[in-house]
Amino acid sequence: MYIAVKCPRCGELMLANTDNRTRSCQRCGHRAELRTLRVIGRAGTPADAVELMKRLKEKEGPGADYKPGFKHIG
Ligand SMILES: [Zn+2]
Repeated sequence: MYIAVKCPRCGELMLANTDNRTRSCQRCGHRAELRTLRVIGRAGTPADAVELMKRLKEKEGPGADYKPGFKHIG
């Protein structure tokens, strides 16, 4: 499973594979233990993970409306 988390040091949004115990931030290099991070979103497949990150980044953008709930596919 994939989870979307935020770097505790710089706040960078990043995707982590739960098979791993730690994730290094691509922006500041800080390595954090996944279980200590707040999970923002989850995805079961790489394709879902990409979609998830896209949505989260859009949400963070200036002036973007927050739309709760997930889009149902199929
Ligand atoms: Zn960072």
